[in-house]
Amino acid sequence: MGKVTGFLEYERLEEGYEPAPVRLKNYKEFVIGLNVEQAKQQGARCMDCGTPFCNSGCPVNNVIPDFNDLVYRGRTEDWKNAILVLHSTNNFPEFTGRICPAPCEAACTLNVNDDAVGIKSIEHAIIDRAWAEGWVAPQLPKVKTGRTVAVVGSGPAGLAAAQQLARAGHSVTVFEKNDRVGGLLRYGIPDFKMEKSHIDRRVEQMQAEGVEFRTGVLIGAMPEGSRVTNWAKETISADDLKAQFDAVVLTGGAEQSRDLPVPGRELAGVHFAMEFLPQQNKINAGDKLKGQLRADGKHVIVIGGGDTGSDCVGTSNRHGAKSVTQFELLPQPPEVEDRPLTWPYWPIKLRTSSSHEEGCEREFAIATKEFLGEKGKLTGVKTVRLQWQGGKMIEVEGSEQILKADLALLAMGFTAPVATVLDAFGVDKDVRGNGKASTERRWMST
Ligand SMILES: Cc1cc2nc3c(=O)[nH]c(=O)nc-3n(C[C@H](O)[C@H](O)[C@H](O)COP(=O)(O)OP(=O)(O)OC[C@H]3O[C@@H](n4cnc5c(N)ncnc54)[C@H](O)[C@@H]3O)c2cc1C
Ligand code: SF4
Repeated sequence: MGKVTGFLEYERLEEGYEPAPVRLKNYKEFVIGLNVEQAKQQGARCMDCGTPFCNSGCPVNNVIPDFNDLVYRGRTEDWKNAILVLHSTNNFPEFTGRICPAPCEAACTLNVNDDAVGIKSIEHAIIDRAWAEGWVAPQLPKVKTGRTVAVVGSGPAGLAAAQQLARAGHSVTVFEKNDRVGGLLRYGIPDFKMEKSHIDRRVEQMQAEGVEFRTGVLIGAMPEGSRVTNWAKETISADDLKAQFDAVVLTGGAEQSRDLPVPGRELAGVHFAMEFLPQQNKINAGDKLKGQLRADGKHVIVIGGGDTGSDCVGTSNRHGAKSVTQFELLPQPPEVEDRPLTWPYWPIKLRTSSSHEEGCEREFAIATKEFLGEKGKLTGVKTVRLQWQGGKMIEVEGSEQILKADLALLAMGFTAPVATVLDAFGVDKDVRGNGKASTERRWMST
C-alpha cells in the first residue's frame, strides 16, 4: 500500500490551471499535471483498503490501489508497471485522466471524512509519462483468427472495442460517418478540455495494430432533416455490412439531443449545443467553415446545467460573448454533499467547472417558457421560476422574466441513439429508445 501513514502526513494536492485571462485567449489545454514527486506523494495517501470502493466506483474498474502504490514506490520500473496495471482495464487513460468526472474519488474511503486520493491526477501523470518515455507501443496479436469485425462509430466505446478485438487477432474495420475519428471526444468536447492530438496518437497505434479506419461512411440511415452531425460522403446499408463482415459492433453513441419545443424554437439563434461545439472543434483542427455559429458580442443563454452546457460556456467566452448565462431546472444543490448519506455513491453537490470560473451567471430552478424574436431572429427568452415539491416542478406565479438573448444553446442531454440506425439492424429498443440488451446475455442486443 502507499505509505502506511501517508494519508495522515500529506494533504490532497489539486492539479493547477493556467489563469483564466491567459487560457481564455486560446483553445489549448490548461491543466498543469502533477510532476513525478507530487504524484508519488499523492500515491502515498492511498490506504489500500481491504475493500477498495474506488475500484468499483470506476466504470472501467481500474485497479486503483495497485497503481497508487507503484507510483508511491517511484522507481522507473514501478512507473512502467503502473501503466501496465492502468492499461489492463483502461484502453485510453489519457482520455479519462483528462475528462473523466472521477466517480472513483467520490467512492474513495478517505472521502468519508477527509479529501479523497487524487486518483484522476495520478492516472493523468502515469499515462502522460508513459507516452513521453515511449512505453506505449502497438500490441500485435500473436495469432490471427481470420474473422472480420465491423465497428460502427469511432467514439471511445468503438475505439476501445476495436482495439481489444484487433489484439485478439480479428481483422477490424471502424466506420465513422464524420470526417475524423473520435466521436464526441473529437466533435463535442472542446480542445481546451482535451486536445485532439491524444486521439490521433491512439489512432496511429491502432492502425499499427491492424485496425482500419473508414471515415465519411454512414452505416444504415439517418432520419430526414436530422440535426445530428453527419458529414458522410458514402452510405453502406446494414445488410451489406452484415454480408461483408462476420460480426458487427454498434457503438454509435446516443446522438439524439433533447429538444425544447416551446414557442419560438424555430427562431434563428436557437441551436443545439451539438450544432455549436463541433464547429469550433473543426476550426481548431484547421478546417475553414463558412458562417460559423459564433457567440462574439452576443448575449448567450445556455439551457442545461451539465457538462455540455459548461462546454458551451467556455467556448462562448473564448469567442468573446457579451454575457453568458446558464440555466438549470433543478434548485441549486449544496456546496458540500452530505457524505454519510451519499458515500460511496456519486453525490449531488454544486459543481463549478473551470468554464464557470472563467465567467458565467448561473440560474437555478428556472424554466424557459418561450423564445422571443424580431424578424425571425432571437432577441430574448421568457423564463419562469420553479419550485420543486415532492419531486414535482411547479411554476411560481408572477415570476416570469424576460432576458436578452442573441444566441440560445440547448444542452439538455441526449435521449437515445438515432433510431433509424438501430432499426436498420433490426435491433429491439427499450422504452427509452436505447438498444435493448440484457445483462444475462452479456449485453448482446436482441
Ligand atoms: C459537449 C460534451 C462534453 C462532454 N464532456 C464529458 C466529460 O467531460 N467527461 C466525460 O466523461 N464525458 C463527457 N461527455 C460524454 C462523452 O463524450 C460520451 O459519454 C462518450 O463520447 C460516449 O462515447 P461513445 O463511443 O458511446 O459515443 P460517441 O462519442 O457519441 O461516438 C459515436 C460515434 O459514432 C458515429 N456514428 C453514429 N452512428 C453512426 C452510423 N450509423 N454510421 C457511422 N458512424 C456512426 C458518430 O458520428 C460518433 O462519431 C461529453 C459529451 C458532450 C457532448
Ligand atoms: S478517473 Fe475515471 S477512469 Fe480514472 S480511476 Fe477514476 S473513475 Fe476510473
